[in-house]
Amino acid sequence: MSMETITHSSEETRWLGARIGSLLRAGDVVSLSGDLGAGKTVFAKGVATALGVRDDVVSPTFTLVREYSGVSVSFVHIDVYRLDRFQELHDVGFDELVSGSTVTLVEWGDRISALLPVERLDVTLQFGEADDDRMVSITPAGNTWAVRCDALATVLHRDGPAFGTKAAQ
Ligand code: ADP
Ligand code: MG
Repeated sequence: MSMETITHSSEETRWLGARIGSLLRAGDVVSLSGDLGAGKTVFAKGVATALGVRDDVVSPTFTLVREYSGVSVSFVHIDVYRLDRFQELHDVGFDELVSGSTVTLVEWGDRISALLPVERLDVTLQFGEADDDRMVSITPAGNTWAVRCDALATVLHRDGPAFGTKAAQ
């Protein structure tokens, strides 16, 4: 099942990231997909805020990975846009990162989905009709998300803009 919502500004996307971030805990992996400028990094900043990261979150496009301290969990922010070879991921300790006790968020995660755990939250951002509209699709997978689906729907409803769910086709 995936859940759909729409945001109308970068602030709304950041807020959406924060609301979803409030549900995240150690070991979670979030895969973010969508074209350049879709708002993946904006969403990541919201997640970081919810985890209590105080440092400014900057795009890890050139560093591949950045790690931040949150209140009770570390936040690992990965961007595989410029990745040439999977080996680079292994070199930065990717396997330990995604299987560890951090919250890990991967921009362009669809490009390496085979390397990501099945147990994860997929978030896809697409450009909408107006310049600042973004259609956001959220797909939880695995047992730990099965038990959090209601909570996910609740945070999406709360103060949220238009929202709906659709069963997987
Ligand atoms: P990505 O990481 O997907 O390449 P960024 O988050 O870096 O994208 O950039 C998104 C850009 O789009 C920012 O300049 C942001 O201000 C702008 N923007 C406009 N509307 C939105 C929206 N609804 N959600 C997210 N970003 C938006
Ligand atoms: Mg980005």
